[in-house]
Amino acid sequence: MKPKVAFFDFTSCEGCQLQKLNCEDELVTILSAVEVVNFREATSVRRDDYDIAFVEGSISSPTCVERIRKIRENAKVLVAIGACATTGGINMLKNFRPLEEVREYVYGDKAGYFDTLPVRPVGQVVKVDYKIHGCPMDKQDYIETVTALLSGREPRLTRYPVCVECKTAENPCRYDFGEICLGPVTRAGCGARCPSNNAICFGCRGLVDDPKTDAADDVLRERGLSVQDILKKYRLFCGYAEVAQ
Ligand code: SF4
Ligand code: SF4
Ligand code: SF4
Repeated sequence: MKPKVAFFDFTSCEGCQLQKLNCEDELVTILSAVEVVNFREATSVRRDDYDIAFVEGSISSPTCVERIRKIRENAKVLVAIGACATTGGINMLKNFRPLEEVREYVYGDKAGYFDTLPVRPVGQVVKVDYKIHGCPMDKQDYIETVTALLSGREPRLTRYPVCVECKTAENPCRYDFGEICLGPVTRAGCGARCPSNNAICFGCRGLVDDPKTDAADDVLRERGLSVQDILKKYRLFCGYAEVAQ
């Protein structure tokens, strides 16, 4: 019997779900190996008897909390996909302002109709078995995770910082241009996509496991910078770590 899979979205732009549909070369192979029983963007089928749930988006309201708990109860395996789900992503910026102020800014005089909570990554509300990082999630990581789950092995995902991929690509360092780059503490796996295109790393894949903060401090100190100087950039995708402290 084919494993039954479902895809769900929470607070997000739904770009990570589109990434799945963008796996054009692999889509037919994946679809022949699984049965999709719930995927709002791609099918009208709505069933709750899934084995694997792929979850996009952050948890930001009481309704989200209720829904994700039900999904967790139904799923044997839950995979958080994309920065919104794995780290809270840019939605976490909401947590740095008073909740009422944010609600009124978005909904104006209708704010009272919309219940809201501080944003949390999925893993802070229910158990997450696997994470696929990035904004949007990386296609190769997604294919690797699906392949691993279908083969009964652990997914092979990167555990070193973006600087490793950036140096391997022989890119000039953005710090040498007077810019601030989060590559030293960000999880690699994107092939250092942004520095390879003359842009800084904004940390969309979240903090690498066990970030070498001493080395990152050295990089800043050498340039006459402090942690305060990088905090705004850091909050864009990694604010969850600051809030969790
Ligand atoms: S991680 Fe990025 S692309 Fe994916 S849903 Fe969130 S904002 Fe959209
Ligand atoms: S700090 Fe940024 S630009 Fe410099 S090596 Fe690391 S990833 Fe590349
Ligand atoms: S370089 Fe940084 S911001 Fe760009 S895709 Fe990779 S992790 Fe994300």
